[in-house]
Amino acid sequence: MASGSNSLMWFRKGLRIHDNPALECAARRAEFLYPVFVIDPHYMEPDPNEFSTGSKRAGLNRIRFLLESLVDLDSSLRKLGSRLLVLRGEPSEVLFRCLKEWSIKKLCFEFDTDPYYRSLDDKVKRYATGASVEIFSPVSHTLFDPADIIHKNGGRPPLTYQSFVKCAGEPSWASSPLATELTSLPPVGSLKNCPVVEVPSIEELGYEEAHEDERTPFKGGESEALTRLRESISNKEWVAKFEKPKGDPSAFLKPATTVLSPYLKFGCLSSRYFYQCIQEVQRDVGRHTSPPVSLLGQLLWRDFFYTVAFGTPNFGQMKDNKICKQIPWKNDDELLAAWRDAKTGFPWIDAIMMQLKKWGWIHHLARHCVACFLTRGDLFVHWEKGRDVFERLLIDSDWAINNANWLWLSCSSFFYQYNRIYSPISFGKKYDPNGNYIRHFLPILKDMPKEYIYEPWTAPQSVQVKAKCVVGKDYPKP
Ligand code: FAD
Repeated sequence: MASGSNSLMWFRKGLRIHDNPALECAARRAEFLYPVFVIDPHYMEPDPNEFSTGSKRAGLNRIRFLLESLVDLDSSLRKLGSRLLVLRGEPSEVLFRCLKEWSIKKLCFEFDTDPYYRSLDDKVKRYATGASVEIFSPVSHTLFDPADIIHKNGGRPPLTYQSFVKCAGEPSWASSPLATELTSLPPVGSLKNCPVVEVPSIEELGYEEAHEDERTPFKGGESEALTRLRESISNKEWVAKFEKPKGDPSAFLKPATTVLSPYLKFGCLSSRYFYQCIQEVQRDVGRHTSPPVSLLGQLLWRDFFYTVAFGTPNFGQMKDNKICKQIPWKNDDELLAAWRDAKTGFPWIDAIMMQLKKWGWIHHLARHCVACFLTRGDLFVHWEKGRDVFERLLIDSDWAINNANWLWLSCSSFFYQYNRIYSPISFGKKYDPNGNYIRHFLPILKDMPKEYIYEPWTAPQSVQVKAKCVVGKDYPKP
C-alpha cells in the first residue's frame, strides 16, 4: 500500500491493544489512522419496556462494562499517540460516511461469527469493495478459525468436544510470538464533518446510574483483564490443579474460577494470549490436569461451541435447528417471571438468580443449577426464554456460548441424560452447608437457622417468626 493512505480500524469486540492483528494491519504504512467505535442505539439506548434497566439487548451492568472497556482502550490508544473516535448511529451508515469523508483506503476489523455481525459485515464489505477500499478482517477472537475446523472435518462442525479437540490439534501459533508489540500508532487525521464524541457516561446514554449494591464488582477494560489474568496465573499450583467440575459455585468472595469470561467476551483479553500463558505455566510446573477439565480445556470448550454455532443454521433456536431436540416446552410466563425475579421459593436457585441480576456473573455450576431448574429439572419452561434472560443480564453474555450451554443444560443437544438433575436443595448444601451464599444474596434469609436455610418452608412457624422471614409472607412458598 502506498504511503499517504488513510486506514480505519473498526473496533467492535477485540477492545485491546495486545494481540490485535486488525489494529496492527491498520497501522502499517498508514499516514493517518482512524480508530473508531460506533455506539449502536440498538445495543446501547434505554428501552423502558424491558424487565430490567438497560437497552433492548443488554442490561445496565454489561453496558457499563463496555463503556469502561472503551475508556480504557481510549487511554491506551492515547499513550500510543492516537485516540478512540466514538460515533453514534446505525453502524453501517456511520461507517459509510466515515470511509467517504476521511478518504479511507484500508478498513480493518476483527472477524465476528455472531449472526448480527455476519449480516452487518457483509453489508459493510459490499460497500467498501464497491468503493475500492481494501479490507482486512482477521480471525482473532477465538483460538482457531471455525471455518477451517469445519473444512477439516469434511464440511460439518464436529459435534463432540473430543472430536473437536482431535480435529483442531495444536494451534499453529501455540509456540510463536502472537504479534509485535505496538510502541506507537499513526496520528488521527482531520475529522472533517464526522460527529465524533468522547466515550459517553451511563448518564449521557440516558440511564440513571444504579446503586452501588446493584452494580457488578467487575470493571471492564484491557488493563483490568491483564491484571486479572496475571493474578490468576501467578498461582501456578492452582492453574496446574484446575479441575472445573470440582469448583465451588457458592464461593463469591473469591470465585473458584478466573472470571475472565467478560473480558474474553469483549475481547479485552485475547484468548490466544491467555492460552499461551496457561501453556507456559503448565511447562513450568510439569504435572497438570488436562482437557476437558483443565483451564486450557475451558478455552477449548469456548472454541468448540463457537465452531458448532458458526456451522449450524438456526443455532440459537429450537425450530429448524437440526441438532436440537424438539421438545414441547411449557409457555408459562408466571413460572418464568418467578425464576427470573428470584422468587421461586428455593433459596439456592433464588440466590443464584439474585447474583446474576446484581453481578452479571455466576459460577458455571450455578448456571447449570438454574438452567436445569427452569427447563427439564422443574419448571419445564422453554430454554430460549432462559437464554434470553441470561443474554440480557450476563456481563459475559456471548451468543455462541450461551446458546450452546442452554442447549446442553436443557438436554436439547450435546448432552441427553435428562434424568441427571441438580437438586435445588442438596446440591448447594454440599458446598455451603451454612448457606453463607444464600444469606449474602438473599438477606431476608440471613437469620434463618442453618437446618432450614435451603428449605425454609420446613421451619416451624416460631422459627420463621424469630428469623423475621415468614414463608408465604416475607419469602415465597416454593
Ligand atoms: P473459567 O473456568 O475461568 O474458564 C476460562 C474461560 O473458558 C471462560 O472465561 C470462558 O471463556 C471459557 N469457558 C469456560 N467454561 C466454558 C463453557 N462451558 N463453555 C464455553 N466456554 C467456557 N460463558 C460465557 O462466556 N458467556 C455466556 O453467555 C455463557 N452462558 C452460559 C449459559 C449457561 C446456561 C451455562 C451453563 C454456561 C454458560 N457459560 C457462558 C459458560 C461458563 O459458565 C462461563 O464461561 C464461565 O462460568 C465463566 O467464568 P470464568 O471466566 O471464571 O471461567
